[in-house]
Amino acid sequence: MKKYDAIVVGAGIAGCSSAYFLKDKGLKVLVIDRSGVAASGGSAAAGAFVSPKIGKGSELQNLTNEAFEFSKDFYLQHFSQYFTQTGVIRIPKDEEDAKKFEEYEAYNEAKRELLFSDELNELGIDNSYESFLFSEAGVCDAPKMCEAILKNIEYEQYELKSLAYEDGCWFIGDYCAKNLILATGYENRYFDMRYMGVKGTWGSRGDYETNLNLTVSMHKQISVSANIDGIVKLGATHEKDVDVCIKCNGEPLKKLFGVASTMVDTSDFKLKETFCGMRSGSKDYFPLVGEVIDTNYMLKTYPKILRGAKPELQKISNLYICNGLGGRGFVFGPLMGKMLADKIVDNKEVDERVNPDRLFLKWCRKSPDLER
Ligand SMILES: Cc1cc2nc3c(=O)[nH]c(=O)nc-3n(C[C@H](O)[C@H](O)[C@H](O)COP(=O)(O)OP(=O)(O)OC[C@H]3O[C@@H](n4cnc5c(N)ncnc54)[C@H](O)[C@@H]3O)c2cc1C
Repeated sequence: MKKYDAIVVGAGIAGCSSAYFLKDKGLKVLVIDRSGVAASGGSAAAGAFVSPKIGKGSELQNLTNEAFEFSKDFYLQHFSQYFTQTGVIRIPKDEEDAKKFEEYEAYNEAKRELLFSDELNELGIDNSYESFLFSEAGVCDAPKMCEAILKNIEYEQYELKSLAYEDGCWFIGDYCAKNLILATGYENRYFDMRYMGVKGTWGSRGDYETNLNLTVSMHKQISVSANIDGIVKLGATHEKDVDVCIKCNGEPLKKLFGVASTMVDTSDFKLKETFCGMRSGSKDYFPLVGEVIDTNYMLKTYPKILRGAKPELQKISNLYICNGLGGRGFVFGPLMGKMLADKIVDNKEVDERVNPDRLFLKWCRKSPDLER
């Protein structure tokens, strides 16, 4: 039996980031994944654009932008070869959107400048609305970034099929650990975590070979990356209620390509590779980081919880989650991994915006999942 302080299940950006910060705090960590490091989940599909969120100062925008500052600095400091700081231009899609951009200006904290249509044209971008250039934003090479983050951390290709908790340890096959972290993306078969409301949103994106001289990335409905080593990434589609086994055949990319063609010259673009996968989002679109509530115990012990009682929440011992990163896994991953490690190692309270506890009592009162 091999013993660890923590086993992380899932080697996408959530699991890799969690493992990195746990190891950084001195824990002996093992990461397992059934298919490889960023090999099949959302992290394998991601275009991995890392840019701020624009809007009118919502709580989610503020959190996203805190995470953006953190992840950008983290990538630049430790893994700069897999993060290209191309800058990302946010372009209004029409006149109505352009008016909203004027309102957003007051709520943009990230470093930015305004670009006018002649400056956009000089960059090879066809657009006539004033746009924001976030010069510190950029694009990760998703699988290489995840591999680099895990470089000094033990990793095994292994599928979690069953697990047991005995004498203060989680047992998985030949491994055991005091702490278990689930970073399995949209899938979870092991515990009743319905209260977190995790759902998948399927998406597709493509890598195109081109000689186009495009030095900056951009987003207008869809994202178009700068030309990095002869490749421009186009992403991504968003489809709810899709079977995960849907064939990754390049078909959904036709629409993306059409939009990209209104922005840049795509005449020599040749599709090289298609990627698709599931994003995992929570009920309220905020990430899910922290302890897991013992749902069965709570429902059995406190039947009045369904009618509004607020008993103390019972947690499953030493079980944690890092999930719900939605369409911004490479923005949220590092900060969420850090928050989780602060909780596990230093017992620091998890930021209440991402603590899954926020969803439990509401779910008990309102969920159609529960029999009354
Ligand atoms: C098309 C597309 C484009 C995207 N573009 C961007 C973007 O530009 N920028 C951005 O920030 N984000 C983007 N995202 C979102 C981003 O990919 C996700 O937020 C992120 O990958 C989620 O990471 P994760 O680690 O939570 O999950 P995943 O990457 O899905 O990782 C979960 C891992 O758990 C493993 N696993 C599951 N069950 C088990 C088990 N029983 N045993 C062992 N292993 C298991 C899986 O194999 C998988 O590797 C995009 C997503 C898609 C689909």
